[in-house]
Amino acid sequence: MLKKILIANRGEIALRVIRACHELNIPSVAVHSTADSDSMHVKMANESVCIGPPKASESYLTIPNIIAACEIAGADSVHPGYGFLSENPAFAEILDDHKIVFIGPSSKHIRLMGDKITAKKTMTNLGVPCVPGSTGTVETVASAKEIAQELGYPVLIKASAGGGGRGMKLVMSSDELLQAFHAAKKESAAAFNNDAVYIEKYLLNPKHIEIQVFGDGLGNAVHLGERDCSIQRRHQKILEEAPSTVLTPKARQHIGEICANAIANLKYSGAGTIEFLYSNGKFYFIEMNTRIQVEHPITEQIFGVDLVKEQIRVASKEKLSFQQEKIHLKGHAIECRINAEKIPEFSASPGLITAYHAPGGHGVRVDSAIYAGYKVPPYYDSLICKLIVHGETRMDAILKLRRALKELIVDGIDTTAEIFDKILVSKEFERGTYDISWLEDFLIEQQRAK
Ligand code: ADP
Repeated sequence: MLKKILIANRGEIALRVIRACHELNIPSVAVHSTADSDSMHVKMANESVCIGPPKASESYLTIPNIIAACEIAGADSVHPGYGFLSENPAFAEILDDHKIVFIGPSSKHIRLMGDKITAKKTMTNLGVPCVPGSTGTVETVASAKEIAQELGYPVLIKASAGGGGRGMKLVMSSDELLQAFHAAKKESAAAFNNDAVYIEKYLLNPKHIEIQVFGDGLGNAVHLGERDCSIQRRHQKILEEAPSTVLTPKARQHIGEICANAIANLKYSGAGTIEFLYSNGKFYFIEMNTRIQVEHPITEQIFGVDLVKEQIRVASKEKLSFQQEKIHLKGHAIECRINAEKIPEFSASPGLITAYHAPGGHGVRVDSAIYAGYKVPPYYDSLICKLIVHGETRMDAILKLRRALKELIVDGIDTTAEIFDKILVSKEFERGTYDISWLEDFLIEQQRAK
């Protein structure tokens, strides 16, 4: 087993990993910027090292500082969490050069999936269904026009190095193509230092459904069902549920097997998420995330597994602790992401939390690093609390979530908690038929009704 784990992250995910370390009896090392000295992850880890000033580019994203922290603390491994350096292949390679274990897949697999064009080609070859589109980079407006014509409008121009929806442009007709093509290239060059773009058919009103997979690096892999992450605002997930209301057990098994076979074939190691758009009963691969996801707890709740501990076990070269035949989905789980943001603009709302009460009781899980007296810094992601419920049925989970939201108190700053009360009682959510554009329309309607 690994001997000492440094967590190259902050907030709730750093705490999540530290908790797993405690349960496995592995000493943990927190790293933090000067803005995070009073953070819960620093308090809960066995040791901590300051790695720089508040700006993430000068602390959490600075590889030499993280390596130095590993050396100071004597850590033999690093858990990257999500975001920051978690999908940076150079980071995994540098750790490897320093004989420090990266708790995640190989740098080769991170690189492969980080380039969306290569990822799509690889997945197509492995029998995973993909969104129809260009077979590679689209270099000129003329070829973009030709491909778009073939696919039929609307189309989406996407950045090969994409992430967070940047470099993505919707094109409704050929008149818009020229401008969108250049805008997408410019935006992706600025965001990713790489202006390669490709074209996809724009699917109308799909769901976002993703499959959790886990590989042991030796050619064995399991699938742990899906998460429906279609409740989105500006392509950012707001609420996730598992299982999805639209999949039959047979459809779940079928897509799960396709995904597990693909990553077994790649000899992929650790946790991964294969993201799909789902439309008219069909799956279309969009990308694979080679890390633990924000929304992993809903899968943990319905399958009764600990994905973070499993990541640590696999990185320690141990066998997977669960086999496909032994894991079964039970009940229904929902997660809502509560952000320090002011409604309706969703503008950042950092500041001092004057009072905090976390909900609890049967089937309620709160993954959060806040406390009364904690000052939410303005420098990072605004996620402050993940409220997760697990019920016997979907309705049971919804009722639990409504009850838990009533118990939650976060005073001193604005949060997005109030939108969930409305989402949970909406007809569309109740039916489970919502798609990726539903929430935006719903929020506008809510605003009008005020
Ligand atoms: P990023 O990595 O930048 O987040 P993704 O490829 O994961 O980009 O897409 C983000 C979101 O954009 C998806 O969840 C979906 O809402 C929307 N999207 C992406 N591709 C398509 C498509 N071909 N058709 C319709 N919507 C899409």
